Amino acid sequence: MNKIDRDGSHAYIRLQEIFDEVKEGCRDRIDIFGTVKFKIAYKKIDGKEYRVAKIKGNTITIKHTAVTILPKSALKYIIAHELAHVLVKDHNERFWDIVRMIYPKYNMGKRVLERYRDRI
Ligand SMILES: [Zn+2]
Repeated sequence: MNKIDRDGSHAYIRLQEIFDEVKEGCRDRIDIFGTVKFKIAYKKIDGKEYRVAKIKGNTITIKHTAVTILPKSALKYIIAHELAHVLVKDHNERFWDIVRMIYPKYNMGKRVLERYRDRI
């Protein structure tokens, strides 16, 4: 945790809880990813307006607004999406197979995220 404030620590707790649920839903297969850390971004990620999250090494960076306003399903989708990028860079068929393996209901979370897009 780089930045701890009242709001920020809530965001980390929320992400950790949601990640634990993703792991639960995925059974023990997620162990292939090892330890995952979270970082909260308070500004644009890589200067890109539309970027909600990214993964670098074992760290998933997620926008603070996303963590605070998105329903759980969308955050689970974001986590699954970023984890899948560890194995596949492009959004190809294999990529989506992995996302599905991590979070079987990812389509629902993806649709929810799209509804909130312009507020993140
Ligand atoms: Zn992606």
